[in-house]
Amino acid sequence: MVAAAGQTPVIDARGITKIHGGPLTTAPTLAGVDLAVASREIVALRGPSGSGKSTLLNILGCLDRPTSGTYQLGGRDVSALTREEQAWVRLHYLGFIFQSFHLIGHSTVLENVALPLHYAGIRAKDALSTAEERLVRVGLRERLHYFPSQLSGGQRQRVAIARSLVLRPKVLLADEPTGALDTKTGAEIMSLLVELHDQEGTAIVLVTHDPHVATFAHRQVFLRDGQIVDGEATLGARH
Ligand code: ADP
Ligand code: MG
Repeated sequence: MVAAAGQTPVIDARGITKIHGGPLTTAPTLAGVDLAVASREIVALRGPSGSGKSTLLNILGCLDRPTSGTYQLGGRDVSALTREEQAWVRLHYLGFIFQSFHLIGHSTVLENVALPLHYAGIRAKDALSTAEERLVRVGLRERLHYFPSQLSGGQRQRVAIARSLVLRPKVLLADEPTGALDTKTGAEIMSLLVELHDQEGTAIVLVTHDPHVATFAHRQVFLRDGQIVDGEATLGARH
């Protein structure tokens, strides 16, 4: 799967396999996946449950390593990093959002968004003001000092989006980001993601079951049994 002509891929993964060990293993979870994603591209990853979508996203997110294959992220080979190097790459190159938001329950909204800035060594005062500015941009000016349990699902995902983008990652990885939301809220979240994408130019790889959500992407890639079976441009009607 090749990125659009003339564009340097920000993600260039080739021949990615993943074998999950164990006596019951009969087939690899990923069986030779090639995926290139251009900078500024939004790709929707689809496929039946168990087809390997989350496994692939975790490898792209340096949360897991492939059994074989090469993975270049922003021109750098990241397929065989140590855990410390993976953590550094995740912090500085990647943003993550998940179906279940993964916010820290005992921290406020503002503290949740400031956390990656603290990890990156930015001093507290600057971290909090940057986090606040990000939260205003996702429409949560009035919720800075709330705890996640005091927010709706859509608001929680807005916090997670603000957090994921706070260090201006090259790539945002999203695993079923609307999976826990009703249809209307899910569409609002996708509109917000596309708007932020247009402003920031972050590439997005998005796993979704929902064909409507997938129409927000520039391109859809279908996985089955750990292999890419089809990749097609969407109409791009929303761009
Ligand atoms: P999807 O996200 O498309 O539903 P997954 O990537 O979560 O699929 O899983 C694909 C297959 O890999 C499943 O059969 C799952 O049981 C297996 N699998 C995923 N993670 C692990 C793991 N850590 N250990 C063993 N098997 C796993
Ligand atoms: Mg999954």
